[in-house]
Amino acid sequence: MNIATHPFDALMDITARPPTVFVRGEGSFLWDDSGKRYLDFMQGWAVNCLGHSPPVVVDALAAQARLLLTPSPAFYNAPSLKLAKALVDQSCFDQVFFTNSGAEANEGAIKLARRYGALHRDGAYEIITFEGGFHGRTLATMSASGKKAFEPLFEPKVSGFPKARLNDLESVKRLISDKTVGVMLEPIQGEAGVWPATDQFLRELRTLTREHGLLLIVDEIQTGMGRTGKLFHYEHAEIKPDIMTLGKGIGGGVPLAALLATEQASCFEHGDQGGTFNGNPLMCAAGLAVLQQVSAPDFLRSVVDTGLYLESELQRMSARHGLGEVRGKGLLLALDLKHPIAARVVAQAFDDGVLLNAPRPDALRFMPALNVTKAEITAMIDCLDAILTRMGAARRVA
Ligand SMILES: *Cc1c(COP(=O)(O)O)cnc(C)c1O
Repeated sequence: MNIATHPFDALMDITARPPTVFVRGEGSFLWDDSGKRYLDFMQGWAVNCLGHSPPVVVDALAAQARLLLTPSPAFYNAPSLKLAKALVDQSCFDQVFFTNSGAEANEGAIKLARRYGALHRDGAYEIITFEGGFHGRTLATMSASGKKAFEPLFEPKVSGFPKARLNDLESVKRLISDKTVGVMLEPIQGEAGVWPATDQFLRELRTLTREHGLLLIVDEIQTGMGRTGKLFHYEHAEIKPDIMTLGKGIGGGVPLAALLATEQASCFEHGDQGGTFNGNPLMCAAGLAVLQQVSAPDFLRSVVDTGLYLESELQRMSARHGLGEVRGKGLLLALDLKHPIAARVVAQAFDDGVLLNAPRPDALRFMPALNVTKAEITAMIDCLDAILTRMGAARRVA
């Protein structure tokens, strides 16, 4: 690594990063500036759903860049109209607002729910969220998150987010009051370590929120766009939420996210919501290319198939090394290591040319490209297997 050509210290030091600069990506592989190749099972946190620099996204961006970058958020543009229509056609929602990040989409969902409360529920504004939940890093979305490490930070928080426990309907019921306007959750808690809400819990929540006239908001920023084998995770539970947010995979690697709502919940008035880059044609053109691929015939069937293969390979490896359960769905999976060795495993895998993620000290999370091949899965498993064998031997010696 040549520090002179890449001075690291001009960037704010907001997280620990390896002293490596990545310069190129293709499919499931990344290369650093020394020419070393890495097999990528993080894909920018489930962002590159078609892998690194997929030709369909590159071509869509290049074509759109030559045509029009941004006319002004005060005017319509064709890619945003097309993408909104395609998302509405393939979901239970009627209207879309595009944003530049997942946190901004969730911030919009919170504002929309508060607007709904002001209009229809006598000023109710509380949104019940969940312990362990993660909704982003703006002040309101950190407040909505149930991440322990966020609790002491940036006080005072935005108020109005009482926390229930995932898969515990009574804990939700206890929090409902005149002030409640909605319930918001990730169908699978990703950042917390891949903890799924059961389909039954999602259905019970839908019934409960209907009974009380509350909005059900699903944060599908990580689970949406085919990640769990359906285009949107809520389809597994056969429910129709009122509001959904998308992010990460929707842009296939570029900053795009979206807030979707049913006609009844879509109650913003002029002046409530907006933004300079929101729904710009360049990002929406990428989103259209991604959606066309992910909703092509057989694409989701192959995600299910590949997900089951990864799951069974992880289970077999877990059995070989005496590790814990495999959690998650489709191509969003976690392996419980039963010991706080995840950071060491991730560092060793990095040296060996495989990119993995540790959302917790004792778990690994796998979020490869949705078109990852079985051969690539086998290569990742072989690498991880060898690391665990070496570490297991080291543990026995120690
Ligand atoms: C990543 C994520 C967010 C935040 O998205 P950003 O684009 O990082 O702002 C919100 N909710 C969930 C479930 C996420 O996984």
